[in-house]
Amino acid sequence: MPNQQLKSHQLKLNTLGYIKSAKQIASPNFDARPDNCSIDMIVIHNISLPPNQYGGSGIMQLFTNRLNPNEHPYYAEVYTRKVSSHFLIRRDGELIQFVSCLQRAWHAGESHWQGRERCNDFSVGVELEGSDYEAFKPAQYKTLKQLINGLKNTYPIQHIVGHSDIAPGRKTDPGPNFNWNEINIIKNT
Ligand SMILES: [Zn+2]
Repeated sequence: MPNQQLKSHQLKLNTLGYIKSAKQIASPNFDARPDNCSIDMIVIHNISLPPNQYGGSGIMQLFTNRLNPNEHPYYAEVYTRKVSSHFLIRRDGELIQFVSCLQRAWHAGESHWQGRERCNDFSVGVELEGSDYEAFKPAQYKTLKQLINGLKNTYPIQHIVGHSDIAPGRKTDPGPNFNWNEINIIKNT
C-alpha cells in the first residue's frame, strides 16, 4: 500500500503541533507566534553541551532553564539564557520535542531572511546534537528527513535554512559538516 509507505517516511504532526512519537520535554521558553503568521521556514542548528561532547543531559537542562553553572565552565556562561527549539535530534536519531510548532520557540535570535526579520516568528527550529567540527550521524539525517516531510505535509514550508544563513557573522551552525544534499537542498555558497 503506497499510503502506508508514505506514512513511514514522515513524522506526522497532530493538530496541537506535536509529533506523538517524539519524546516530549516541555520548555517554558516560548511564546505566541504573531497573529496570522504562516509557518514557512525550517531552521537547522547544531548544539552540544558541554561543547563537542555528546550524550549528556545539558541540552535538555539548558532548554528547561535547569543548567547547573557549577557543572562546567561553559555552563556558567550560558545558564541564564532563555532559549529553546521545537526539536532536537540526538546522535542516535532520537527525536525530542520541547515546544509545540504552533508556538514560537526561541532558537534563532536576531535574524533575517529575504527581507523578513525575526525568523522565530515564522519558523520551526531543529537542533542536531553535534558541532561545526564533526560529521552528523546517518541516524540523524534519517530522522531529520522524516521530520521535514511531516512539517512540509502540515505547513507551507518554503525555506529550509541554516542558522548561519539567517544570522550571518553571528552564528556558524549547522556548520560545514552538515550535508545539505542529504535533505535534497543545493546550496549555492
Ligand atoms: Zn543555532
